[in-house]
Amino acid sequence: MTDATPTIGVLALQGDVREHIRHLEAAGARAVPVRRRTELDAVDGLVLPGGESTTMSRLLDVYEMYEPVAARITAGMPVYGSCAGMILLASEVVNTRADATWFSAIDMSVRRNAFGRQVDSFEADLVVDALGPEPVRPVFIRAPWVETVGPDVEVLAQVRASDDREHIVAVRQGNALATSFHPEVTPDVRVHEYFLDMVRAATS
Ligand code: GLN
Repeated sequence: MTDATPTIGVLALQGDVREHIRHLEAAGARAVPVRRRTELDAVDGLVLPGGESTTMSRLLDVYEMYEPVAARITAGMPVYGSCAGMILLASEVVNTRADATWFSAIDMSVRRNAFGRQVDSFEADLVVDALGPEPVRPVFIRAPWVETVGPDVEVLAQVRASDDREHIVAVRQGNALATSFHPEVTPDVRVHEYFLDMVRAATS
């Protein structure tokens, strides 16, 4: 039977953990911070928050959490990464530190800090078909974009950036979801509802 209230963890080594927990709860999940192995074992899905991907990569190592998280992702646990979290889900990262690591959960090349250094709140509304007709107001904070995707990756959203080209900013491959933007810092909980549906489907 489908668990109507799955437990979703937010990797809590660094980044905007609280905002994701609030949004997951508003979307109807039980949400818990995850810092250690035992906490990871208790969740049905995991959010990798926004923050700083190279710091998170280092802390995953320090807390001995890289291997356990990688193993759960390989075993099919649903995972959602926003911004820095998107970088951690990529198979290739452009413009990062030489010692950074990531999970290769989505067959995509991601350019770190692609949108520049400033907080870029796009005025233009972004319609993401998977979320319904109401547009998203995406907030980009030193955000990455996706440069290339493999054949199994579903592109969910693209935006026209200041270089006047369209760039991919939301993708899904199987049980892995990633956005360049931060729905957790806006009132919109539809990305978290979408992820909760992925978790429900995986646990049913
Ligand atoms: N620039 C950050 C990084 O490389 C991501 C920014 C964010 O998550 N807001 O990890």
